[in-house]
Amino acid sequence: MTAERRPGPASLARVAALALVIGATSAASAQDRGSVDPKPLPPLAHPDDPKTPARELFARRTYAASVPARTIGFYSKGCLAGGVALPINGKTWQVMRLSRNRNWGHPKLVALLERLSAKGAKVGWRGLLVGDMSQPRGGPMLSGHASHQVGLDADIWLTPMPDRELTRLEREEMSATMVVAPDRKDVDPNVWTPAHFNIIKAAAQEPEVERIFVNAAIKKALCREAGNDRAWLSKVRQYWYHDYHFHIRIGCPADSPDCKGQPPVSAGDGCGKDLDWWFTDAVLHPKPEPPSPPRYITMKDLPPACRQVLQAP
Ligand SMILES: [Zn+2]
Repeated sequence: MTAERRPGPASLARVAALALVIGATSAASAQDRGSVDPKPLPPLAHPDDPKTPARELFARRTYAASVPARTIGFYSKGCLAGGVALPINGKTWQVMRLSRNRNWGHPKLVALLERLSAKGAKVGWRGLLVGDMSQPRGGPMLSGHASHQVGLDADIWLTPMPDRELTRLEREEMSATMVVAPDRKDVDPNVWTPAHFNIIKAAAQEPEVERIFVNAAIKKALCREAGNDRAWLSKVRQYWYHDYHFHIRIGCPADSPDCKGQPPVSAGDGCGKDLDWWFTDAVLHPKPEPPSPPRYITMKDLPPACRQVLQAP
């Protein structure tokens, strides 16, 4: 889940200021690291207070813990040691929303994205526009996601990569493409293309990929267009939002004994009746509910090893 639907919160002035900061420091070395110099957050008044939301602590770690790569905990309750950054430019990908500094992952995820992007280019999807992955040390984020905490999740825009390098400003301000029709019951035929189908199928066919999350309307289209080759569809799960991007989740890497995996997806393509509930009136037009007070994850809720990840040099 993400806020990719709207232009980033950064105002033009802030982006310009960020560009200046980057220009004034070491743009080349930042690019070599595949990362950016993010806007620093103000120091926390009480970082050791056990009630401090863990997201405040992890968001203030702007580089990875320099220890061997290891995923700790569950996708929505964990952290990442030894994360690596996906370089912000590749031949077949570009990282978006650079100011967020969320292009970090377990090396397996980074390798997967590089491989998938090249594969996609052969099936009509020129390149990946990569949205949020994880923070340098994973953990909860200040905005946008429940998961993406362990370096094994990545959001890919449903916008094909343009045939040129996007500027930093464009990467902040551009919107991803809405592929779901206004009535929410199917994809928008004016937007959806065979290449959208091909890139999602290519992602699902990667052995390391365990789940792909898409909007139910997208799953419906994939079901319709899949023909007889349907085994990959079981990994593609309908979920809220995911109408501007799709979400790739890989399984626990072998080097991470403290990584908590998910049960395997059930057999079957998950088409037809499995989707009916998602198109009921209650889901398509939900009644507004009174907001409930937020309950933030604290360090106590995370695996104890995440404390070391947070404190590592
Ligand atoms: Zn996501």
